[in-house]
Amino acid sequence: MQSHTRPRLSVVLPVHNEECSLRPLAEQLEAILGSLVGEDWEILWVDDGSTDSSLRAIKSLCEKDGRHKFLSFSRNFGHQQALLAGLRNCKGECVVVMDADFQDPPHVINQFWALSQQGYDVVYGRRIIRHEGWWKRFTAALFYRLLNRLAEVPIPLDAGDFRLMRRRVVEALLSMPESDRFLRGQVAWLGFRQAEVAYERPPRSAGRPSYTLARSVGLAVSALTGFSAVPLRVASWLGLLGSLATLPVAAWALYARFVDHDYVPGWASLMLTVLFFGSIQLVCLGIIGEYLHRIYNDVRRRPHYVIAESNIPDVK
Ligand code: UDP
Ligand code: MG
Repeated sequence: MQSHTRPRLSVVLPVHNEECSLRPLAEQLEAILGSLVGEDWEILWVDDGSTDSSLRAIKSLCEKDGRHKFLSFSRNFGHQQALLAGLRNCKGECVVVMDADFQDPPHVINQFWALSQQGYDVVYGRRIIRHEGWWKRFTAALFYRLLNRLAEVPIPLDAGDFRLMRRRVVEALLSMPESDRFLRGQVAWLGFRQAEVAYERPPRSAGRPSYTLARSVGLAVSALTGFSAVPLRVASWLGLLGSLATLPVAAWALYARFVDHDYVPGWASLMLTVLFFGSIQLVCLGIIGEYLHRIYNDVRRRPHYVIAESNIPDVK
């Protein structure tokens, strides 16, 4: 695809039952995009199996203005898959990804754009204040901190998927073939020049969140296992700790048996056997974990590196 056929800015919006917010959101976006790039934008709505009238609202937007594009899934595949479809099918030189429920305030795009014009490849929003229930805030804070400590690459704290990416970042992202996707981790993994914009996250404007507890846990597990080998290594560490803890207990059991003679027959041998085999099992599990980690790295088939620039025309 030649660059002159690309709009300067695309906005990708995954939609699942957001009938009330679509029209006002479209109006605000049109105004903002118009002020940033004139006519040269597109908005791509990804209907992720909505069961309300979202799709009808989207189609009517598309009929009125050809710069509105849409695609609609055959059923609900989930937010991350909707993002993937949006990124694959948008054409912009810069691409903004945002929620369709006004929780990612459209005016923040102005700051994203300004930073991208200064040469940043990725500009992501960081939620400094969240107007959501204490449970959501608490679990989100815990999750981001845990992920940040465990992940192989630093994943920004409190950043959701609301972000702007340049075309080369989008292409690199699309070249990551893993099927379990966690967009914000993947973008962090990719590198490039990244900047953040702090924003206040308002409550959703209408409708109900589609992210249930089970889905959020699923995303969290996907993030942790996709970007950290620590859970796999837990068995090794436990085994090591267990063996160390065994030593004094074993010494005590032997002392009670042979010196103190204060014991129930069979206790010491039973104790030693349980401790010994317990630690051996954990250490062995840990070793299997190490191999599993290597196999996992291979089946994930991520690119080995990502090139940002080169003067070789078809660099590989
Ligand atoms: N969404 C989606 N598919 C889903 C769940 C959510 O496309 O299965 C969209 C939803 O319409 C919204 C965005 O993803 O635009 C974020 O979802 P939600 O507001 O439910 O998540 P939260 O803001 O609570 O994290
Ligand atoms: Mg939301």
